[in-house]
Amino acid sequence: MPRRSVAGSIVSVLDVTDVVVEYRRPGRDPVRAVAGVSLSLDAARILGLVGETGCGKSSLARAAVGLVRPSAGSVRFNGELVTPLGRRTRPMRQTRLQMVFQDPFSSLNPRRKAGEQIADGLAISGKGSSGQRRVRVGDLLSQVGLPASAASRYPHEFSGGQRQRIAIARTLAAEPTVIVADEPLAALDASIKAQLANLMISLSRELGAGLLFISHDLAIVRHVADLVAVMYLGLVVEVAPTREMWAMPLHPYSEALIAAVPRLDRIRALPAALPGEVADPAHPPQGCRFHPRCPYVFDRCRIESPPLREVAPGRQVACWLQEQGRARALPRAQRPPA
Ligand code: SF4
Repeated sequence: MPRRSVAGSIVSVLDVTDVVVEYRRPGRDPVRAVAGVSLSLDAARILGLVGETGCGKSSLARAAVGLVRPSAGSVRFNGELVTPLGRRTRPMRQTRLQMVFQDPFSSLNPRRKAGEQIADGLAISGKGSSGQRRVRVGDLLSQVGLPASAASRYPHEFSGGQRQRIAIARTLAAEPTVIVADEPLAALDASIKAQLANLMISLSRELGAGLLFISHDLAIVRHVADLVAVMYLGLVVEVAPTREMWAMPLHPYSEALIAAVPRLDRIRALPAALPGEVADPAHPPQGCRFHPRCPYVFDRCRIESPPLREVAPGRQVACWLQEQGRARALPRAQRPPA
């Protein structure tokens, strides 16, 4: 059940606070993949996390489920500190914090039947007899659109899309309160992507589970997410309700990402939409990390790093162009389209 505040409003099920993830490399400078990120996820809500490859999305996802220990900051699941995976003392209730990976083949055991792997999640909760678990495995397969006979097949006997369905069924077996999905559709064909995106939306709503949906594919995120957080070089630079961000992005990077989403009449990749490359995370630029690529850069940007702050109800942005409580359209958006 979603936790509720005293006033009755739904409170967050996953809280990421000032999280830093740093990787040490022998003889080289450490890489700060996540440089201090705070996010919260509510029950039955879908938060999309977007950004280019290497921006720190996957490191943040791994920290959120305890696969990586943050160098600083904290992650709380239902109010309780997340215990790193691998520790035998990880509380049973934290099994309700589940992750779906990009590559279902590597996340499934090739030598075990699909049904056995799904039943593992049920066994963790210790619920039901073995007969009841068999029936439940059939139910879960049906929920993800596979026949009950799939339980007796091995991972290599399925297509990529079917394997991802099995991975999702296994995740659902643990009755998750929060699902962190890291590029879950990246390896799939376009038609399967749409089907699985719809499946993830309906399962999140039915279960009341919060879903952190991580992707570099903005078209999918726009379809799936209630809220979007944009990451650039280890930091979140904008958070907004999905529709509002598409209607009026407040950060220049969000604006460039949205402009780069392929359309039938205009197919562009991000590097073509923005000058320059993403900087080395081991040596981020001084001031605003986006300033070497920003079309609106001015002197202050090169010196001071803008904090993420609320500029309108439900809208946070880290950019000196935006003033607290006074969100405004970016200058380029005010020009008529070319
Ligand atoms: Fe661009 Fe300056 Fe805003 Fe950074 S702070 S995004 S450089 S305008």
